[in-house]
Amino acid sequence: MHSRIVAVGDELILGRTVDTNSTWLAQRLAACGCPCAGVQVVGDAEDAIVAAIHAAVADASLVIVTGGLGPTEDDRTRHALARAMDVDLVDDPRAWRQILAWYRRVRPDLTPAASNRRQALLPRGAAILANDRGTAPGLLARLGGARVACLPGVPHEMRAMFDRLADRLPRLLPGLVPPTVGEVWFAGTGESAAQDRLVGVLNEADPMVGITVSDNGHITIRAVGTPAQVRTRLARARRAMRDWLLPAPGLAPSLVGLLTRRRQTITAAESCTGGRIAAALTAVPGASAVLRQAVVAYHGDAKQALLGVPADLLRVHGEVSEETVRAMAEGARRAAGADLAVAASGIAGPGGGSRAKPVGTVWIAACDRRRTIAKLLTSGGDRERIQRHAANQALLLAWQLANG
Ligand code: ATP
Ligand code: MG
Repeated sequence: MHSRIVAVGDELILGRTVDTNSTWLAQRLAACGCPCAGVQVVGDAEDAIVAAIHAAVADASLVIVTGGLGPTEDDRTRHALARAMDVDLVDDPRAWRQILAWYRRVRPDLTPAASNRRQALLPRGAAILANDRGTAPGLLARLGGARVACLPGVPHEMRAMFDRLADRLPRLLPGLVPPTVGEVWFAGTGESAAQDRLVGVLNEADPMVGITVSDNGHITIRAVGTPAQVRTRLARARRAMRDWLLPAPGLAPSLVGLLTRRRQTITAAESCTGGRIAAALTAVPGASAVLRQAVVAYHGDAKQALLGVPADLLRVHGEVSEETVRAMAEGARRAAGADLAVAASGIAGPGGGSRAKPVGTVWIAACDRRRTIAKLLTSGGDRERIQRHAANQALLLAWQLANG
């Protein structure tokens, strides 16, 4: 049993809005036991929406359409669904009452616009999905052998409506069995090295185990199946990757969790990463237990003033050097009175590189009370990637230091 997603909106095909609705929905649909077999993104043109709905219902049990339910003339999803079903659009008094109720509750100062009336139109035979966050009711219909649900485009409205629909899915789709999903996370070794160790765990014959590299520096192995299958597959994955396992999905959450348990604190001294290390740490709920402060010391003067990096050291070795990054970490740890510190200094480009220190040269360091470790990175890519990679690697170094 599988689903398909149709994401509607000119802003999506023009690249002005990232289609986050589809990624969110795809995750939920997989978790519901009705994984998504494909996403089609179309503009607001009615013909395109009709064609996409027809194509999707051809083989899917469930089709989720998102967007195009607004009150304006260019919102064509309900018209498209009526055409795809070959039925009229009819005025639905219940839908209209819901729209009026929303105005009374949320915007009592406004009277519904005439255009809102469009949102009470329903393809004959379709049911409405209540919207507690906006005016547009969703639609639920049968088409061919499939159920088609049309949800709003506004992400938080869409999510709330999908979650309510998900509770009803077992009744709408008899035979639906939500699979067990389990994950193992690791960092510190590349995907290809991992692939070699995972021979026999990841193979084409067993597509229920997948591996994904995330942008924030860790790799996820995900197993889907029955509880017993997931247990054995994850146990094998854990054995294969035991030297690199993380306790949480990501370096920052793993580090925050570990330090919280140990009642230890961390600080960061950042140059080329511009606060990304601190941002990753503060993104973790509960980070305040381990992070009191972090410093972005971009200019050499700031490295001296805020981190106590000696002027001579900067002059002799330069800002991007092992000596400087070690001094940054140690100075930051002293200044913050923290148990651990992590630092990064490098050349993110596109300018500023030299033969000796080309763009992508980044020194990172981590220290605790007893020792300081440093590492040279030479990363490729653009400024954004160099900064992101440096921040991830710095967190990895801190994780490795904290784990001895
Ligand atoms: P609704 O059905 O809720 O009225 P709509 O498509 O008619 O949705 P729009 O005004 O087009 O409404 O979009 C509302 C907001 O939702 C916009 O900010 C739009 O960028 C965003 N949005 C629409 N579709 C998506 C999507 N697939 N992913 C992320 N954001 C989206
Ligand atoms: Mg739209």
